[in-house]
Amino acid sequence: MLKLTNIHTYYGAIQALNDVSVEVNKGEIVTLIGANGAGKTTLLMTVCGSPRARSGTVEFLGEDITQWPTHSIMQKGIAISPEGRRVFPDLTVTENLKMGAFFLDREHTEAGLERVFALFPRLKERSSQRAGTMSGGEQQMLAIGRALMTEPKLLLLDEPTLGLAPLIIAQIFEIIKEIREQGVTVFLVEQNAHKALQVADRGYVLETGKVVLSDTGANLLVNDEVRKAYLGA
Ligand code: ATP
Repeated sequence: MLKLTNIHTYYGAIQALNDVSVEVNKGEIVTLIGANGAGKTTLLMTVCGSPRARSGTVEFLGEDITQWPTHSIMQKGIAISPEGRRVFPDLTVTENLKMGAFFLDREHTEAGLERVFALFPRLKERSSQRAGTMSGGEQQMLAIGRALMTEPKLLLLDEPTLGLAPLIIAQIFEIIKEIREQGVTVFLVEQNAHKALQVADRGYVLETGKVVLSDTGANLLVNDEVRKAYLGA
């Protein structure tokens, strides 16, 4: 479904991704783990075309989207829940969700709201509450819900559990599994390597802009290097 081949991404003179190749197949949950600054966010953002890869290709559903503008990539079926949630604090839950559906007509927007509220009953209860007054976990649900408004085929999740309490983290991972069961493919960036590898079919380990390991989630969980570097073993 998504195929990155020999991707090099830079911020000016700084190289953030160095010859990265990653694949996500339809129906999978794939996770990308790595330390702070390894380039995980840059990888997801490169899929979205901002920053653009300086070389290499990004293919989605068999098409080369490397040079496509971000809005065209989104319309093709990719959505992102960004790091730090980035909800609009002064807008209500419903208004935030509608922001995720900016290119949909009214009928599809209403259908999107219904779908998201079915997945997150808590958001329905709080539909007219201002996002900035909600808890971190609720804001995270809102960020994921907003990304799902367009009914994406591929959902990119950047650190969805960062800064949340253990109980909420468990809920978020349950929701990720449910999203996949509804037919959405998930590419998940996480610092919480243990939980991420437990839910993921496959995982990649990124170190200073390079993929150093890739395997099934189950194998990575028992891999000695991964255990030492990322699982606190
Ligand atoms: P974190 O979990 O801390 O967000 P990450 O693995 O997502 O880390 P990135 O945010 O992708 O890492 O950063 C990769 C590298 O690119 C880092 O060295 C970072 O300092 C650099 N970088 C990221 N964004 C920019 C930017 N806008 N301008 C310059 N350098 C950047």
